[in-house]
This record gives sequence, structure tokens and C-alpha cells, in this order.
Amino acid sequence: QCITHCPVGALRERDDTDRVFEALADPEKITVVQIAPAVRAAWGESLGLSREFATVNRLVSALRKMGFDYIFDTDFSADLTIMEEGSEFLERLEEIKSTGLPMFTSCCPGWVRFIKSQYPDMVRQLSTAKSPQQMFGAMTKSYYADLLGVDPEKIYSISVMPCLAKKEECALPTMNSAGAGQDVDVVLTTREIDRMIRAEHIRADLLEEEQFDMPLGVSSGAGVIFGATGGVMEAALRSAYYLVTGKNPDPDAFKSVRGLGGWKEAEFDLAGQKIRVAVASGLGNTRKLMEAIRSGKSSYDFVEIMACPGGCAGGGGQPIHDGEELAGIRGQNLYGLDKVNSLRFSHENPSVQNCYKNYLQKPLSHRAHELLHTDHFGWKMPEEQ
Ligand code: SF4
Repeated sequence: QCITHCPVGALRERDDTDRVFEALADPEKITVVQIAPAVRAAWGESLGLSREFATVNRLVSALRKMGFDYIFDTDFSADLTIMEEGSEFLERLEEIKSTGLPMFTSCCPGWVRFIKSQYPDMVRQLSTAKSPQQMFGAMTKSYYADLLGVDPEKIYSISVMPCLAKKEECALPTMNSAGAGQDVDVVLTTREIDRMIRAEHIRADLLEEEQFDMPLGVSSGAGVIFGATGGVMEAALRSAYYLVTGKNPDPDAFKSVRGLGGWKEAEFDLAGQKIRVAVASGLGNTRKLMEAIRSGKSSYDFVEIMACPGGCAGGGGQPIHDGEELAGIRGQNLYGLDKVNSLRFSHENPSVQNCYKNYLQKPLSHRAHELLHTDHFGWKMPEEQ
């Protein structure tokens, strides 16, 4: 009963590895795969690899051995999400201040389903920005198909995610904006990609590091931290500060939203304007926060919600270790990757800059709206149908 009625659509475990093996064996298909931020912090766990060894570049190497044609980083489209969502926040700020209702992040499909089913009157407070997975799919079958000079119908778009709810998200009727079928054809969880590596008899302990393909393999540290609770908020504030002032803040200026606290809040100064933010993960914390907003006890300008405790690092598609919660350690891993990245700001990602210059024009442009934003009222929850 609860599997069919799970409000976040995250309880149904479905194995899609056969579909991907079939696509890899089909010479007519161009397989383009994206790897989500949080996957890099966990993929080696069930293969017996140490955290130091199980880098994302070794996962790239495994996927190349399996025969994927192009291997890209969802962190690229996490940067794109920040450009769109940060710009949208600034555009909506006057309305936010006058109504006293915040803008909510929209990148977690578990949360989007939760708000649609539990707080339908608040759905219009969601950002219209698609999740990085779906932005990536739309760009793959439009911008990247153009760069390759191929018919987008030939592209088979695969994502590797820490998440079960992403399988439902990619199949939504609103997620086909590039006009070549669904923008993401199939979603694999971290557990499924690990099973595929084993099924292919790849010796994970002998993998060398290999680079992502270009240009959609370039990303900033701001994109990497999407995988941890508070990461989307921090990344968005870094770029919003730049968009308002024309200057970069200290990249760690907003780090008070980090950590595993289930409901965190902070106040920042954005060019003389006070911005109150909140970050929640886990649906119990989310419900408390929503009730506080509804009753007027709490008031924020911008709120990040992730359905899984600890964010995607603790996502439902990650390796499971009975009795152990690894979201914190994996999140630390992602913050470590941000710290050593030479790019710390989404707006400084050169591939994102080129994408705007040559294709999208600017954040919130007509084309950006068509490909990168969505209508949360464009589909119904199962019980509404
Ligand atoms: Fe999926 Fe959980 Fe991440 Fe939400 S927080 S996107 S449900 S893994």
C-alpha cells in the first residue's frame, strides 16, 4: 500500500540496468551519461574501495570501459541551475518581501511531490528551475546534439543518481522540452551502476583515473556541493551575491548553512538587503518547517528542502549499510572537493558561460525558460488523476 502511495515516489525500487545494457549494445544509439554530485561520494563503498581511491574520475573510467559514448558531469548543470535559480530568486525578491512567503528550491523531486500532495496551496512558491538532472537531459538533446551535429532522436540520455525519485521525475509529461522523447531516457541509481560494474567484470580496484568528456564535463565546487544538505542554498547565494554586487564574495561566506542539522536557518546581507534563509532535510523536519511558515511563526526569503536526511549524499539510491548513516561522511567528501576546486562559483564555469553566449543568451531568456524551467502544475499526483 505505502509503495503505491508514497508521497515522494521514492519507495519503488525498479531495476533499469537491462535497459541500459540494451542501449549500449545498440549501434544506432548514442549513449550520453551524466553522473550526479552525490554519486561520487558513495559509488566505491559497495565495491570495497576506499574513499580516497573511489574518485569520480575512476567511475568515469569504469563507464568508458562499459562503452558509454559520452560521459558528463551533472555538476555542470548544477551550475546552470544556480544561474537560473539565483536569477529567479532576485527577480522574485520584491514579491517575496511583500507577501512574506519564501521561494523554495525545486531540485529534489521527492520534495516536489511532497509539497504537491501535502501543501498544494504553496506549490507556486517553488522555483520553476528544473533539477540539474532534467536541465542536463534537455541540454543534451538540444545544445549538445547541435554541437555533435546529430539528430537528437539518436541520443539515449542516461543519468546515474543517488535517488529513486529521479526515476519518476524523468518520466513526467513535462520533462520532454527538447522535442526528442523524454529528455532523460533512463535513471540508474548508485546501487545499479555498481551492479553493472560487477556484471561487466570490471576490476574496480585497478581502475585508472580518466577525465570527463567536454564541454559538459566542466563544473565548479558550487556544483559539487549540491549533493549535501545546504549545498544548493550556499551555491545559489555565492552567485546571487555576484549578480547583485558584481563582485565575488568569499566562497565560504555562507558556510553556516552546512551540517546535518535537520532545520537550519541563517541571515545574510546581500548588498544592504537582509536575506533570511532556511535549509531542511528529511520530510519530518520539512513538515515542521512548513507548518511554522503557514502559521506565521517563521518567515524566510529562500528555503532549500531535500527529502532525504542529509540531502542526496544520504539518498535512497545510495549503497545501504545496515545500521550506519553515511550522509555526513559523504557530505564532508563533497565539501572537500569544493574546497580544492579552482572554480568555486557557478557563474565562473567557462562551459556554462559558453553555453549562455552561444545558445541560451542569458539566464531566464526565452530559450532558457523553454529548456530549463518547468510548470509544476503541468502534471498531477496519482491520486488527483
Ligand atoms: Fe532524491 Fe533524496 Fe536527493 Fe531528493 S534528497 S533528490 S529524494 S536523493
